[in-house]
Amino acid sequence: MSDSTKPVRVRFAPSPTGRLHIGGARTALFNWAYARRRGGKFLLRIEDTDRERSTDEYERAILEGLRWLGINWDEGPDVGGPCAPYRQTERIDRHRAYAARLLEQGAAYACFCSSARLEELRQTQSARKEQQAYDRKCAGLSAAEVQARRAAGEQPVVRFRVPEGSTRFVDHVRGEVVFDNKEVDDWIMVRADGLPIYNFVVVCDDIDMGITHVFRGEEHLVNTPKQVLLYQALGEAVPEFGHLPLMLGSDGKKLSKRTGDTALQDYQERGYPKEAIVNFLCLQGWALNGTTEIFSTDELVAHFDIKDVTKAGAIFDLDKFQWMAGEYIRKDSIEHLADMCAPFVLRAGLATEALLQQRRAWYLDVVRGEQERIRTYGELPARIAYCFAKDDAVVYEPDAEKNARKQAAAVETLGAYRSWLADSLGRGLSTAELREGTKAWVGARGLKMPALFQPLRCALTGHAGGPDLFDVIALLGGESALARIDAALSRLASKPATEGAQGPD
Ligand code: GLU
Repeated sequence: MSDSTKPVRVRFAPSPTGRLHIGGARTALFNWAYARRRGGKFLLRIEDTDRERSTDEYERAILEGLRWLGINWDEGPDVGGPCAPYRQTERIDRHRAYAARLLEQGAAYACFCSSARLEELRQTQSARKEQQAYDRKCAGLSAAEVQARRAAGEQPVVRFRVPEGSTRFVDHVRGEVVFDNKEVDDWIMVRADGLPIYNFVVVCDDIDMGITHVFRGEEHLVNTPKQVLLYQALGEAVPEFGHLPLMLGSDGKKLSKRTGDTALQDYQERGYPKEAIVNFLCLQGWALNGTTEIFSTDELVAHFDIKDVTKAGAIFDLDKFQWMAGEYIRKDSIEHLADMCAPFVLRAGLATEALLQQRRAWYLDVVRGEQERIRTYGELPARIAYCFAKDDAVVYEPDAEKNARKQAAAVETLGAYRSWLADSLGRGLSTAELREGTKAWVGARGLKMPALFQPLRCALTGHAGGPDLFDVIALLGGESALARIDAALSRLASKPATEGAQGPD
């Protein structure tokens, strides 16, 4: 067992074979929080041994994603450190040295079995319903024999020689784990082409980098027995483990594309505030105190302990995630929120950067009008597009138009109100005065509010709901408001565009 008084060194070890999975981001976050709380070091190691699938772009994107979330590392491929290099393929000499050491001491052996033989073995074992395992045909080859076959051009794989007995290790999430060594096959450490495989190199690197705690996803639990046996064969301290519960989709199965986005970048692109992402990830298998849902990374760092991580799978509840994102948006300052939303507004083609700068105060008011309603930055453009639309081309959402048409005499009411509004605007009434005056106007006609407000809201915004209508008039300006009412008067006077297409009933 490792010495728990040693300074903490933990790592996140992503493979750059895809975008950063949201589960990987949680693994990084928990390791980071653990290191920060214990005053230890957090390392980033790139596990790029899968040469075909690893790319520089993925590596870059993973680093960027982590940095964007606010996770920083003390040692890593970009910042260097005392255990450099931090890219696994650059450490191959070290891996070869470990393999040679294990071969030398007999803890590993060269195996020349062809894939055809191994396939035959697999089929026989499966027909006999036996455990699938290598039958150790090559385990007893003499050194001379191995050398001769190598000299003749045969290229062996290197297998680990699993000793007899049973093995235990500490898992801070799952408790003590004990397994019978018989369950572990004499697994391949180094392929015939000389490339070492994950279960082997991960141990070499964790030893060389002085890793004290290995916290990673539960999917790696099957690998841990192999790795623990390797530490023991090498006479090295076994780190403490913590296997984080799987993140499950709403269908209770392992989180996958089926039930939602799985890459961190997807959430970034949808405009989830990063603070909300971090907060939500914290709750995937951990809780601050069971009652506080919204908390900062400082609070995570102040309280995080691996022992409090739960064993049960964590349901990735998208509705809750969206709610949480909305909470962060509501408590944000309007300036910051407007800045975070700006790229989404630009990308939607609603405005240019210059326009948003020129009309900064106006843009802040536009954003303020939706702060209560949006849950992500990405939801803003669709809600505010009407502010940028031409007065005669406001898009009416079906609901908004239906609500407007539902009102008996909608066109007459709107027409009469237009005259009052033009007159009131001409007299320079303030927003508050317009609001009060409109109420009196509606009352004097014996109408209910929706009789005016629904056609008016449709005319001005095309939405069924949204900010206070008098704030909308202020945002649009009187002239534009009147022009939109004029357009609505003719649009609502004609039959709805879809009516002709509907069936007889
Ligand atoms: N490279 C492995 C992965 O991306 C991580 C291995 C580990 O943490 O031990 O899943």
